[in-house]
Amino acid sequence: MSTMNTVGRPTTPNAVQSKPATLTGGRGLLQNEHLIFESDGWGKTGVDLPEPKTDGSDLGDLVRKDPIGLPGLSEPEAMRHYVRLSQKNHAIDLAIYPLGSCTMKHNPRLNEKMARLPGFADIHPLQPTSTVQGALELMDTLAHWLKTLTGMPAVALSPKAGAHGELCGLMTIRAAHEASGQHEKRRKVLVPTSAHGTNPATAAFVGYTVVEVAQTEDGRVDVADLAAKLGDDVAAIMVTNPNTCGLFERDILEISRLTHEAGAYFYCDGANFNAIVGRVRPGDLGVDAMHINLHKTFSTPHGGGGPGAGPVVLSEALAPFAPAPWVVHDADGYRLIEREEDEAAQAFGRLCAFQGQMGMYTRALSYMMSHGSDGLRQVAEDAVLNANYIKARLSDLMSPAFPDGPCMHEALFDDEWLKGTDVTTLDFAKAMIDEGFHPMTMYFPLVVHGAMLIEPTETESKQELDRFIEAMRALATAAKAGDVDRFKGAPFHAPLRRLDETRAARSPVLRWTAPEGSNIAAE
Ligand SMILES: *Cc1c(COP(=O)(O)O)cnc(C)c1O
Repeated sequence: MSTMNTVGRPTTPNAVQSKPATLTGGRGLLQNEHLIFESDGWGKTGVDLPEPKTDGSDLGDLVRKDPIGLPGLSEPEAMRHYVRLSQKNHAIDLAIYPLGSCTMKHNPRLNEKMARLPGFADIHPLQPTSTVQGALELMDTLAHWLKTLTGMPAVALSPKAGAHGELCGLMTIRAAHEASGQHEKRRKVLVPTSAHGTNPATAAFVGYTVVEVAQTEDGRVDVADLAAKLGDDVAAIMVTNPNTCGLFERDILEISRLTHEAGAYFYCDGANFNAIVGRVRPGDLGVDAMHINLHKTFSTPHGGGGPGAGPVVLSEALAPFAPAPWVVHDADGYRLIEREEDEAAQAFGRLCAFQGQMGMYTRALSYMMSHGSDGLRQVAEDAVLNANYIKARLSDLMSPAFPDGPCMHEALFDDEWLKGTDVTTLDFAKAMIDEGFHPMTMYFPLVVHGAMLIEPTETESKQELDRFIEAMRALATAAKAGDVDRFKGAPFHAPLRRLDETRAARSPVLRWTAPEGSNIAAE
């Protein structure tokens, strides 16, 4: 009986259960769900097909000899499996998803409808361009608005994520240095300590030596340190603006002046463009290359691994080196520049097989057109207002990492306020799950101790923000009042409790193996 009674918070401190304590493992109308391979579908088949009428196969030695190793589930069994799994996941369609830096915001259903129009959804990248003029026009229009919003003369649309955009930007910069004969001596890329991890990773991947630039007390790039490290051995600097502390780089004009004076290029990580869209044009700040995460700024859905799109806007100096393909428009209509010849002779190559993520382009343009210029400006204003509202309403209980002045689109707290409570940032985040909220980003940026980075985005109403804030305030009060048990064992109400995340990352088990002696011969 005792195990059945412990649904929810156990009375014994630190009693971390590995399974929810019900007879079935389910809880509150949610069924427990095993791996699909652990269903008893082996030896069954979910479909009934006639025997194929073939006289053998052309595959020769490649014909499969072993059973295929898939469980034979009926349609309702397969459907229930996936729907149950989906119920175990938090989603932006359920509640606020306050991840900092990742910008999880509502995806308007209009965008989804547009992306599913057959003229966009059912075409093939190898179709003759005369049959896909509408899709090419859409790409061209999107490119036009991205250039307009950023004040930059060129854009490479094809990168498929923010990190892929960084790769595109740095490969463009490398190509420009190669063309001017400076590549051999310019081997360094300067990156501030607060950078998103993808920045130094990209620079290293492209073959550069990463040199860290210090940060000031108030969370910005240390310009004196930057100036000291700039020289004719530097290929580029990579600066995120607004940065990952949720702050605008006040000295950005000086940063770009110093960079250009040293003959280096200014790469801006524009993943957070949603905080300034319609208000600031990166081209006016002296940026040479910047990726824009369409899946953050322009709301195309992401999370769980994609798909994304990370177009890169480029300055005049870098534009000739942009990767193929791109769309051009003349009296004969739209066509793609695909080959590295003629007008694309200096292109550094290409980044993906075809044109990039058509579905993301459609959603992003739909978002732009439905908001209009005033609406996009309001996106940035509301994103910043919402973050500042959270910062203002939590600052008496929690310690903001940079208390002076407003933040941009993210409110950043450190764990100073948890000192002496025996509750850590991780414990606090796990307790948020019990309150029905996805935790914020934890322990990032690394430059802030025990960081809690909250990005509400502009799509949350005041009502939802208040609901979130009240829960945060109640938890913070409980932590300070010494209710440690509530935190140490949390989450108590999730289908699974605390997992060994380190082990999962270090030795992931990615392949299911059938138990000894089992018959896995589905037909
Ligand atoms: C999200 C993000 C990236 C990486 O974008 P992906 O699409 O996840 O590859 C890079 N920099 C910053 C600041 C980000 O927030």
